[in-house]
Amino acid sequence: MFIQLLANSCISFTGIYFISKIVNYPTKHEKSKHVIVGILSGYLGIFLISHGVLYEDVVKIDFRYLVFILLGFYRLVSPMFIAATIISIYRFSFGFNVQAVMACVAIFIIAGGIVMLYRIRTFDHHFLKFGMVMNLWASLVVSITIYVNGGFTLPAVNVAILVMCISLPVGLLITVLNIDVYLINHRVREYKISAETDHLTGLANRRAWEMQMKKMKERYATCNVLMLDIDHFKQINDRYGHANGDEILKQFAELMHRETREHDIKARIGGEEFGILIPMLSQTEIVKVAERIRDSISKHKFKLLDQQRIHISVSIGIANGKSEDLHKMVHVADDCLYQAKNSGRNRTHINESIEYVQ
Ligand code: GH3
Ligand code: MG
Ligand code: MG
Repeated sequence: MFIQLLANSCISFTGIYFISKIVNYPTKHEKSKHVIVGILSGYLGIFLISHGVLYEDVVKIDFRYLVFILLGFYRLVSPMFIAATIISIYRFSFGFNVQAVMACVAIFIIAGGIVMLYRIRTFDHHFLKFGMVMNLWASLVVSITIYVNGGFTLPAVNVAILVMCISLPVGLLITVLNIDVYLINHRVREYKISAETDHLTGLANRRAWEMQMKKMKERYATCNVLMLDIDHFKQINDRYGHANGDEILKQFAELMHRETREHDIKARIGGEEFGILIPMLSQTEIVKVAERIRDSISKHKFKLLDQQRIHISVSIGIANGKSEDLHKMVHVADDCLYQAKNSGRNRTHINESIEYVQ
């Protein structure tokens, strides 16, 4: 029996590790992922029920509730109820009797209780404590179900004690496994964000800008590149100090963010040089966007650290063309920016020939 239970816990660990990998897999299709996770958890539950261990030829002990500890850990409500439904349907396939109803009610009580538990603030970021309380809750419900089914008899008490003795350490190990997988994935995500973000402004950095150019080429037929460079920024630094210069760069990035759409790529390419990738806009439209950005920068009162307000301006070079020529377009936009600077700054230039001044 011990060997069988050990084999069952190994299956649980493997299944739960596999499902938690899917839970942590980054995707834009979160809802589909949740359905898949729910179905897989349900199947794992079924597998664990069907490999339950017979105790004294009367009661079967299994680890079906462990999948709820996994789903509760990641606070996944819909997968939890998908899994509970699949497990219940399977349980009824053995026959529609009181025991089956009791087992299904117990499953939903475990799932519902876990949903209630993670609303308690005390468990926020206390993964181990939360895991153990979920585990205790699940074992308690299982034990009560055993009493209700078998009456408060000696064999029922024995089974309930046995369930507690096995489920608590197994649940602890599952919680540790969950914490480990979660922390690894969380750190990888953090490092990735950190490696692709400009820390001063929160915009994409040069590395992310290069990667986004590749994606832009694959996704869109046409694209616009905007290169922006703050005018006379060196003088601002010299006059107000480097810390105030940084403050202006931050506010500049916020304005850029506000004046563009979510899917436009905004990056800090160098010191006071920025780039924006905007897909699928015509020449006329992109000039309007660039002019809007330039105008809002020139009108904005930038707040210095001593609350003093100052005005700055920006020059913008634009290249408009096919996404396949994106790298060439960056050079064209750079040339346009150079021309905007030479023609007096605080202006927008597009594809070498046309100049737009307010
Ligand atoms: P132009 O109108 O021709 O662009 O003149 P400019 O003074 O802006 O150009 P230049 O390239 O000569 O100077 C850019 C300045 O930006 C020089 C540098 O000290 C400053 N700078 C670069 N990175 C940072 C930064 O992270 N923080 C601050 N505060 N200043 C920076
Ligand atoms: Mg510059
Ligand atoms: Mg400059």
